[in-house]
Amino acid sequence: MQRRSNAGVFMERGTRLPPRSGFRVARVFGIDVLINPTWLVIFALVGFSFGDLLSQTTVDGRLFPGGPWPWVVGFITAGILFVGLLAHELSHSLIAKRNGVEINRITLFIFGGVAEMKSDVTMPGVEFRMAVAGPLTTFFLAGAFYGLYRLTDYLGAGPLLVAPLYYLAATNLFIGVFNLLPGFPLDGGRVLRALVWKATGDLQKATRVASVIGQGLALLLAAGGLTIIIIYPEYLITGGWLILIGTFVYFLAKSSYKQTLLRLAASDTLAKDIMFTDVPVIPSLTPLTELTARYFSTYHLPAFPVAEAGRLVGTVSRADLMGVNRAEWDVLNAGRTAQPLEPDQLVAPDTPLDQLLRTLLGRREYVLVVEGDSVLGIITRDEVSRYLDARMKTRE
Ligand SMILES: [Zn+2]
Repeated sequence: MQRRSNAGVFMERGTRLPPRSGFRVARVFGIDVLINPTWLVIFALVGFSFGDLLSQTTVDGRLFPGGPWPWVVGFITAGILFVGLLAHELSHSLIAKRNGVEINRITLFIFGGVAEMKSDVTMPGVEFRMAVAGPLTTFFLAGAFYGLYRLTDYLGAGPLLVAPLYYLAATNLFIGVFNLLPGFPLDGGRVLRALVWKATGDLQKATRVASVIGQGLALLLAAGGLTIIIIYPEYLITGGWLILIGTFVYFLAKSSYKQTLLRLAASDTLAKDIMFTDVPVIPSLTPLTELTARYFSTYHLPAFPVAEAGRLVGTVSRADLMGVNRAEWDVLNAGRTAQPLEPDQLVAPDTPLDQLLRTLLGRREYVLVVEGDSVLGIITRDEVSRYLDARMKTRE
C-alpha cells in the first residue's frame, strides 16, 4: 500500500458508513432501533416494485384486484419485509449480546439494516455464530412465508393474500442468499473471515482476504448494473441500484480492512503510553486574555482542563474561545467559558487505545486522562493519527 499521510486516519471518519443518525422508533431487547431518513427512499422503491409486480400477478387464473389495491398491498408487503430485515439484524445482535459483545443500536437506512457494535469481536467462533444468525433468520422467514403461501393457495384464498406471501418468500430467499456471498461486509464475508481467522489465527490476514473478495464482488455487482442499463435501458432503476449498492459495498469492504488495521495497531497501546503529560490546569478565574497569551500561544494543544478549588469543572478549547466575542475576553474567565466534561472525554491511564478510537475518530478532538480529580495528560486526535500512521506503516 502507498504511503499514508495524516489525512489517512482523518478520512476514516468520513467513510464511517452507514449513517449513525435517525429517528428512534423502538427499543427491542434493550437495543435502540433507528430509522435513517434515507430509508424512506428504499421503502418507497420496494413498495412501488411490489405494487407493480402485484398488479401483473394472476393466481389460479384470477388477476390481482385493480385500482389502489396493488399499491396498498405493495406497501404493506414492503413494511412486512422490513420488519423481517429488523428480525435479521436483531438475531445478529442477540447472539452478540449473549457473547458479551455490546450492540449500540440497529439502524435501517437506504441499503438495508445494520447492527452497530460498541466493542469488537475477539474470537472467531463468536464472529461465526453472529454472522450466520442473520441469514438463518431470513431463511426461516422465507420458509414460513412459503408455507403460508402454499397453505392459503390450497385453501383457495384470493390473489390479495396469496400473491404477497409468495413475493415475501421469494424476496427473503434472495436476501438470505445475497447476504451469504463470501465478501466483507456481507454476512458471508464475515463467515469467511471467521473461518480464515480460526484456521490461521491471523485476524489481519483473514480480514484482508474477506475484504478483497468483498471488493471484487462489489465491482462485479456494479459492472452488472452498468451492463443492465446498457442492454436494457428500461431497467434503469434496477441497474442504477446495483451500481449504488456495488459502490457502497466496495468502500465498506475497503474501510473495514483499514478499521481492523487501526484496531490491531492500537491494541497493545495504553492511554498513558501516548498521552501528552505537560498539561497545565487552568484556574477558573483566569481571564480569557491571559488564557490566550499564556497558554494557547505557548502550548500546541486544542484545549485545557479548567479547575475550580481543585475540582475539575470542564475544558476550554480553541473553538470555545472563538465562540466568544473578542470584546468580552477581558471580562469573561475560563470557568465561565469552559464546557462541562462528558463521560466519554475522561479516560483512565490504563485504557487500551483501541477503546478510544471510536471516540477520537468520531466526535471528540481530545480526551483527558484522569485519576480522580487530577489530570495526568491529554490525548489529541492529531497525535493518535500520527502514532497510528507510523505503526500501520510497519504492518501493511
Ligand atoms: Zn446480516
